[in-house]
Amino acid sequence: MPEGVKCSVSNCTFWGQGNQCNANEIMVDIDKHGSVDYSSEFAGGLGTDHQDTAPQSSTTCCHTFKPKE
Ligand code: SF4
Repeated sequence: MPEGVKCSVSNCTFWGQGNQCNANEIMVDIDKHGSVDYSSEFAGGLGTDHQDTAPQSSTTCCHTFKPKE
């Protein structure tokens, strides 16, 4: 798991006590690509290794988020 990744999204499967993210890795992207499904071959040519720029932190999102069931 990535060390030192703090997250407040407590309804995520990977969230742990102390606001610790317990995912092995996370994928963060810009909000503009928030609906991209990287597991799909129809991801619009975007892969997890593409690059973007964000003007501020509020325009970024975690794609690894998975709601608890
Ligand atoms: S996967 Fe993303 S949303 Fe889920 S706990 Fe980790 S950083 Fe937060």
